[in-house]
Amino acid sequence: MSAVVLDTRSTSEATVHPVPMDAVRIDDGFWRTRLDRLYAVTLPSQYAQCEATGRLDNFRRVSGRSTAPFRGRYYDDSDVYKWLEAASWALAGRDDRELQALVDGLIDDIAAAQHHDGYINTYFSLERTDQRYSDLVNKHELYCAGHLIQAGIAHRRATGSEALINVVVRLADHICAEFGPEARHTADGHPEIELALVELARETGHRTYAERARFFLSQRGLQPPRLGGHRTLQDHEPPVEAREIAGHAVRAIYLACGLADAGMELDDAALWAAAERLWASAYERKVYVTGGLGAHHAGESFGADFDLPNRSAYAESCAAVAGVMWNWRMLTGTGDPRYADWMETTLYNGMLAGLARDGSHYFYPNPLRATSGHERQEWFDCACCPPNLARLIASLPGYLYGVSDGALWVHHFVAGQVEVTFPSGERLTLQLETGYPWEGDVELIVREAPARPIALRVRVPGWCGKASVEVNDNAARDLAAGTYATLRQSWAAGDRVSLRLPMSPRRLVSDARVEANLGRVALARGPLIYCVESHDRSGLEQDAFALPDDAQVSVRAEVGSLDGAALLDTEAVALDQPPRSGRLYQPTNRRASEAARQVPISAIPYFAWANRGLSTMDVWLRRLEVASSS
Ligand SMILES: [Zn+2]
Repeated sequence: MSAVVLDTRSTSEATVHPVPMDAVRIDDGFWRTRLDRLYAVTLPSQYAQCEATGRLDNFRRVSGRSTAPFRGRYYDDSDVYKWLEAASWALAGRDDRELQALVDGLIDDIAAAQHHDGYINTYFSLERTDQRYSDLVNKHELYCAGHLIQAGIAHRRATGSEALINVVVRLADHICAEFGPEARHTADGHPEIELALVELARETGHRTYAERARFFLSQRGLQPPRLGGHRTLQDHEPPVEAREIAGHAVRAIYLACGLADAGMELDDAALWAAAERLWASAYERKVYVTGGLGAHHAGESFGADFDLPNRSAYAESCAAVAGVMWNWRMLTGTGDPRYADWMETTLYNGMLAGLARDGSHYFYPNPLRATSGHERQEWFDCACCPPNLARLIASLPGYLYGVSDGALWVHHFVAGQVEVTFPSGERLTLQLETGYPWEGDVELIVREAPARPIALRVRVPGWCGKASVEVNDNAARDLAAGTYATLRQSWAAGDRVSLRLPMSPRRLVSDARVEANLGRVALARGPLIYCVESHDRSGLEQDAFALPDDAQVSVRAEVGSLDGAALLDTEAVALDQPPRSGRLYQPTNRRASEAARQVPISAIPYFAWANRGLSTMDVWLRRLEVASSS
């Protein structure tokens, strides 16, 4: 069986290679609960949705196995492929016969729908065969193909089966014949094929696929434009020259993933540098505190720098998923902890909010302020987000650790075990015990280690203040936040590394250029961003209270409807509100100030909002600045 890996990088010494997914075990805790729910609820219910909406019959129709008419949108195949990728990752190291049967049946239906020349797309088949590639700007054929390629790679890595990768290689060869320097010169309006082809190059060892990804990247931003020149289509400038992330957020981030991938795999410094510039644009000036990306509903797009409205935030779940993928690529290429920090923020906040506690309802946009009730939906007409969330969560074990020469990197703190084999054949087995993200103590226990010194490179998150570490009974030493702490020595079974990450609640303010957050403060604890829902603010209207800088914030373990989340309790100050009826504008009505009325409020993790009935919600609360007494 082939190794289960995500996005391996083949060359540079700076590489932090992914640890194969089946070398990672996840024990009881925060993510075990969520993975089990994914297997038991999310994956079966999403398959049922694909069946009920005709997405699966669309494949059977092409092969003559169904007489149903084509249903849905021209890009619906991609939802099926993302589900298949998620289900494949879910089979890595797990015996699940029901899921296996669904996966096998689906692969059989997909293979039967493949044309003799390798092409697959259920919309452009049968009566529309002659329209293939006639509207690549809008109709997403290569986007769909990219998702099938990713599914095929996941399936082989997770199961060792060749059934889907064979289909995928035929499709990729067809695409390489149809598009390229000697063939059609264009690209798809929705990036995705680029990163998929680089991943296929890694999987198969055939560099041609990565070269073709670079070709597709070169077809954007040309004069005259190949795709109309629009930002939405990522055709407004050559990607290699890009300085600002702009346009449709998911497309922009998938494209950035392609730049990073092609840059890494082809040792193309210009492509890699473009990915770094786009990253700085996104994560220094355009990201929400939750890791959400994409400020505007119009065009599902990024806004200008610091343009981050809260109520109308788009922050599509898919963009959060893509943000994790992008930061992962940047991290594997550099070992820079900033990327791991944003992965973590996105995983625990902007991404996780997309999925309901019940495992079968989803958000598409993820606003940071809700003034009327928002509810997650069971499915969408355009259903990109649900299976995207599923494939990310299913692949989580592959994102936790890294390995480089003589070092094991601990990127994220998830209870479980990792077993790595170094190129020399030596093995290191490490157990990780923690109550993260609710608690900040992380114990790393060595179970098996090579005789020679090995470095444990443990991430000290950028959010924490004074972290410390103890190795066995040695005195604790302080660690700098926003680094990888390097602990290099000869390890023996039973050795213990104790990491202490302070989990005091924190107050965050924005750069003053984020207009929406002027005079506002957000609460955070550990990797979690908090919010206040109408359920938890003593009947006060939204904005009818402010949080004083000196109000004590205490932590309380919730029992019940939020899976044991840590809540933050504090005392806010009730504020007079202008009347809501009467004239639009009126003179102020100054009254003698009354004694401030203190009211208890509680904040819950942002990812958990909208799970207790309709509510209004804010991440950014009005702030009552308290003059310093010094
Ligand atoms: Zn989506």
